[in-house]
Parts: sequence; structure tokens; C-alpha cells
Amino acid sequence: MLRLTKVNKYYRVGTHSLHVLRDIDFEVEDGEFVAIMGSSGSGKSTLLNILGILDDYDSGEYRLGDTIIRDLSESRAAHFRNRLIGFVFQSFNLLPFKTALENVALPLYYQGVARRKRNQIAMGFLERVGLRDWADHTPSEMSGGQKQRVAIARALIGKPRLILADEPTGALDSETSAQIMELMSEINRSGITVLIVTHDPEVAARCQRTIRLKDGKVMSPEAAAAAAAAASHPGMRAAT
Ligand code: ADP
Ligand code: MG
Repeated sequence: MLRLTKVNKYYRVGTHSLHVLRDIDFEVEDGEFVAIMGSSGSGKSTLLNILGILDDYDSGEYRLGDTIIRDLSESRAAHFRNRLIGFVFQSFNLLPFKTALENVALPLYYQGVARRKRNQIAMGFLERVGLRDWADHTPSEMSGGQKQRVAIARALIGKPRLILADEPTGALDSETSAQIMELMSEINRSGITVLIVTHDPEVAARCQRTIRLKDGKVMSPEAAAAAAAAASHPGMRAAT
């Protein structure tokens, strides 16, 4: 599905250069369900934005399917994003004055699909996330978990092969978070590759494997195992 080879990314802040991703190397196969973990500032969102072709990188290679994603024109980038990728964010990113149905249908609006048709398709996706009865409600009338379901339905409507989620449960309580992860697992079982950035070990535990970042690098398997053990047995931390 995708492969990163020695990817580096710098942010230029004034005369200063910040090296945020360092020789990132990994591969994700079709149909995988992967967590990306790491402390705040370790480069997770930067990495996800590169994977989603929302941001560029400075060296190395990012291959998505058969295509090397490098210096694409905005229209080519948009073409890949719209055809292959669905995004889910911590803060849902719904339009506040649009109904759930209109929010889900939005990608089809941009594709020029007629209103009746796009509403019919959007209703099918709302049903899939369990919100058929909420179609006419606006985000302010919905709970966090419901808003995230709307956002997930919107991400699915373009029939993506890859879902990229940046802390999708970061604003939710643990029970709602578990429900959203159940929905993510179901989406993955339907054949869509899913990558989730998370701080939460319980979210990562529901994925098939975890890629850990530290200071912009992928941690070695040994270091990652030690970090995972420390996270699941907080009392052991002093001993390591
Ligand atoms: P994470 O998502 O793991 O918290 P980020 O990818 O958001 O980390 O950020 C990684 C580092 O890059 C941080 O030090 C952050 O301050 C810096 N950074 C992120 N975005 C920008 C930007 N647009 N300009 C400059 N520095 C940035
Ligand atoms: Mg982040």
C-alpha cells in the first residue's frame, strides 16, 4: 500500500531549521490496521500529513501504491487524496451550520454530484455508522462520539483505500473511544487500510501493530517493546 524510505522533514522557523522527521523507514501492507504512537512533538502529525499528501518532505521517498509522491502539483495531489484517502481528526472538523447528512455528503458536492443523489449516498453511510436518525441534526446537537461517526462517514464516502486518523479518540471518554475503535476495526475488516495516530495504549492495543516515534525517528523494535511494557506496567518504570 505505502512505503517510506529514509524520509526527512525540516521546518524552517526564521533562520532556524527544525529536523522533525529523521530517516523514517517503514512499510504498510494493504489491509493493515496500524497505530502510530509517540510523545507530543515526536512528529506524528507531520508524518500523517505527509502520508496524506497534505504536506511535502525534504528527502527520501514516499511511495503510495505505484506512485512516488514527490513535488506533485496541487491538482495531482488532490486527485490522489480524493481517490485514495479518507481523513479523520481529533476535533472532527465538521461544518457547524450544516446537518450531519450535508457534512457527510460534502465530498460528493465538491465532485459535482447532484443533491438528491449525494444525499441518498450520504444517508447510506450515516446508516453504516449508526446515525440514520440524526441526519437532520447539526454538530452542536450531537455528542463527541456522534460527531466523530459523522466525520468517519464523511471519510468513507469517497470510497478510500486508506484511512488516516490523527488522535480520533483524543476528545472522547474511554467508553466512546472504545466504540469508535470498534467502528474503525469494522472499517478495516471491510478491506480498508487504517493508520491511527494515538497517545492511548488502549487504542493502540486494538490495532494489529504499532509504529513508535521518538524525536522524529522510528524506534527500534527493542526500544518500542520496552516503551510498551513501561506503559502497561507503570510501576515498572522506575526499574528500567
Ligand atoms: P506530534 O503530532 O507528534 O505532537 P508534530 O508533528 O505536530 O508532533 O510536531 C513535530 C515538531 O515539529 C514539534 O516540535 C512541532 O513544534 C514542530 N512543528 C509542527 N508543525 C510545525 C510548523 N508548521 N512549523 C514549525 N514547526 C512545526
Ligand atoms: Mg499531533
